[in-house]
Amino acid sequence: MARRWLSVFESDLPRLCADLENLVRLESPSGEALLVSGLAQWVCDRLQERGVAAELRHCSPAGDALLAAVAPREGGTLLLGHLDTVWPRGTLASMPWSLDGGRATGPGVFDMKAGVAMGMAVLAAMARETRPSPVSLLLVPDEETGSDHSRGLLLSVARGHRQVLVLEPSQDGAAKVARKGAGVFTVRFHGRAAHAGLEPEKGASALAEMARFVVFVEGRCEPGTGTTLVPTLARAGSADNVVPERSEVTVDARAWTRDEAERATEAIRGYRCVDPGVTVQVEGGFDRPPLQPTPAAERLYERARRLSAELGFELGAARVGGGSDGNFTAAAGIPTLDGLGAVGGGAHARGEHVLISELPRRTALVAALCTRE
Ligand SMILES: [Zn+2]
Repeated sequence: MARRWLSVFESDLPRLCADLENLVRLESPSGEALLVSGLAQWVCDRLQERGVAAELRHCSPAGDALLAAVAPREGGTLLLGHLDTVWPRGTLASMPWSLDGGRATGPGVFDMKAGVAMGMAVLAAMARETRPSPVSLLLVPDEETGSDHSRGLLLSVARGHRQVLVLEPSQDGAAKVARKGAGVFTVRFHGRAAHAGLEPEKGASALAEMARFVVFVEGRCEPGTGTTLVPTLARAGSADNVVPERSEVTVDARAWTRDEAERATEAIRGYRCVDPGVTVQVEGGFDRPPLQPTPAAERLYERARRLSAELGFELGAARVGGGSDGNFTAAAGIPTLDGLGAVGGGAHARGEHVLISELPRRTALVAALCTRE
């Protein structure tokens, strides 16, 4: 079954490459709603031409999402991806599309326009089947900035699907079976200002308290758990001769498991100021839950491994620190396998590239996973 899909996508490869070129040439930076929506419209038009039901869904102010489906019914597969890239408008001028020696380059080619092209190819091929398997494709406009405006749509679409395949890039060819949960805490301290020269003892330094907090929070990362709490931005004070009344620090927080995320959250929220004249206030927290392996997700990965062996390659399993929308669907209890998109490298970097020769079998793997045995 997997090998039949392979021959389909071997013959579809020229069109897949042409789609990829167009996807890269249509720049779609996060936050540029008009550009991102323009790309959503382009994908929508192409899918409709190829016999796939497709529509746009507004995710204001981020732009439009693309939702498409073939033979939709309860228990189908959701292919998940994003339209936006981290590259600002105009990047194409210094990092143009190119296809040379089997490597495609250009802004967003690996993360994740190749995955978008793969998803389009799977739906178009499925629509040509006499008895198609149910498969949907959702491409959100704002994944790179946290999917704040598409999360509700994502969760409501994902419900009713038996599995989610995330077309984010692979990790050196491996699928992503675990992703850390992530979030940002903003911690504010409020002390008492005083003249730093005349009567500093009357002040209560929000800066000194923040410094103690930074040391405290670094000590809460237990080695071996993989939990990281990294103070990243800080500011304090109002003038060079005043005991600082206010200070603020942000903490980048990541954890492999929900338990660890909770432990880290409790540690930060449980901080007590050493100086009785200073108060602390904590905002934020983990907003992307961890993508933790579950028995159902492990079965999904095992099936993917079996199918990839039929296709002539070995599908590794990677655990990665960065999050994706797969974190949300996994936390909602839907078996999720991530990193099923392109093989290549350099995500978010100038060397971003995709290996074209890998596209047919990787796309065949996604189609085979959508097909019931
Ligand atoms: Zn991505």
